[in-house]
Amino acid sequence: MTSTVPAEAARAQALAWIRQAPKRLLIGGQWVEAASGKRFETINPTTEQLLCRVAEADSADVDAAVAAARKAFEAPSWAGMSPHARTRALLKIADTIEAHIPELAAIESLDNGMPLWYATAAATACVDIFRYYAGWCSKVLGTTIPSDGGTLIYTLREPLGVCGQIIPWNVPVLMASIKFANALCCGNTVVLKPAELACLTSIRLAELVQETDLPPGVVNVLPGFGPTAGAALAQHLGVDKIAFTGSTAVGKQVVRDATSNLKKVTLELGGKAPNVVFADADIEKAVQAAVKTFCGNSGQVCSAGTRLFVQESIHEQVAERVAQLAGTWKAGDPFAADTRLGPLISAKQRDRVRAYIGAGQEGGAALRLGGQAWSGAGYFVEPTVFDHVKNGMRIAQEEIFGPVLSIIPFKDEDDAVLQGNDTHYGLSAAVWTRDVSRAHKVVKALKAGRLWINTFGEADPAMAFGGYKQSGWGREFGQESIEAYTQTKSVMVRF
Ligand code: NAP
Ligand code: MG
Repeated sequence: MTSTVPAEAARAQALAWIRQAPKRLLIGGQWVEAASGKRFETINPTTEQLLCRVAEADSADVDAAVAAARKAFEAPSWAGMSPHARTRALLKIADTIEAHIPELAAIESLDNGMPLWYATAAATACVDIFRYYAGWCSKVLGTTIPSDGGTLIYTLREPLGVCGQIIPWNVPVLMASIKFANALCCGNTVVLKPAELACLTSIRLAELVQETDLPPGVVNVLPGFGPTAGAALAQHLGVDKIAFTGSTAVGKQVVRDATSNLKKVTLELGGKAPNVVFADADIEKAVQAAVKTFCGNSGQVCSAGTRLFVQESIHEQVAERVAQLAGTWKAGDPFAADTRLGPLISAKQRDRVRAYIGAGQEGGAALRLGGQAWSGAGYFVEPTVFDHVKNGMRIAQEEIFGPVLSIIPFKDEDDAVLQGNDTHYGLSAAVWTRDVSRAHKVVKALKAGRLWINTFGEADPAMAFGGYKQSGWGREFGQESIEAYTQTKSVMVRF
């Protein structure tokens, strides 16, 4: 569904909501100030102006939210709710989100800076995610196990309990929806800590969830900082699972903190995806997708195809066309109809990306496009294309999280696979070829959790997502995500 609300009207509605009431913590069904009384500022990265101040959760608020989530988990109103009633509740949330897509998208564009068209697609995807998980509520099945005639053995698949969820700022409304829908369909309760850099859609989403039939305390939201609120959640003895999406470095810290009570951990971490184009591919389609994946959301996407491997015979042609097309990605106001690229999330992130562009130039990669500093307001970095990159260079090994592409020529299938797999990451990958056998052979050889053939970045909630190697533990979406939010109890009955 595409929005029919004009961009200016959506912006005005979002600003009205942002300014209307103090942004607080959701604990046990109540919107409350932080115990410390502290608030932090949230900034519009396009204008660098203050949007609003948000209550800043810390460990005392984590204690309160975890207690509320525990109470809700054990209350008959949630624990005793039939799976069909949970389905209805999640469907109602989906309908409510659907009715608020333009507003949610506009809040995201103001807070995160992503273009409205991108935010609208993200908010729209949230509707499908809730509907997908709504269908699972009544399908979380145990098994019966063959046994001798004197016994019955069966298993129950039960929720884990209180789930701490920590998300990044890059596509917050989508991240919060994935986390809520997955946990709730399995009967858990949640305490979500959004990133303080872009937490407003998580707050709005929680308000919308509150309008539906969920008992108080099932969903709790604590905007705040990682080293304080996030760490307190990861360490908390009353939390049964932590689901973390963010950087690999912080993911490792979350694992260390989770040892406090050996809570279950799933991690969705960084990536440095190889996007492999063979000479027999539909080159124009491959180029279009290659540009969209590294420029989309200004490259602030974990699964972005940031290493473009191109077979030598078509390398020059592809590199030229990629640079030409990426050059048409106009940066500017997220609400303008012709804007393709918004700002990065913060000055810090912009400076980090610019430092990588410097490192690429110093390392001897050929700059095909971009590299100029942005003059004017906003944390913008324009599309930047490096050619003749060596896979061992820093720009090809480290996650930049900006609109920066490394083009790397390759000889043949073996070379593409060898170089493509030469990374600590393994989140996603793609291959472009008209040769069916080669496509499947290469997909099998690439070490990543989500793969595409002749497309890039398309998603379906039924398709598992997660990392090989240092890109994470466990999977979101699909059947495996149900296993990640439940545990098995096996039972023997002696007749
Ligand atoms: P980050 O620094 O790791 O932060 C992610 C979240 O963790 C934020 O909410 C952050 O809070 C919190 N955090 C920071 N330190 C923490 C600690 N010691 N304990 C607990 N929580 C802590 O990542 P980011 O820079 O915001 O986001 C970009 C990264 O996310 C990239 O690496 C990207 O690849 C990854 N990502 C992965 C996926 C995926 O599904 N695989 C999806 C999107 C993004 P504050 O920021 O508020 O301090
Ligand atoms: Mg912001």
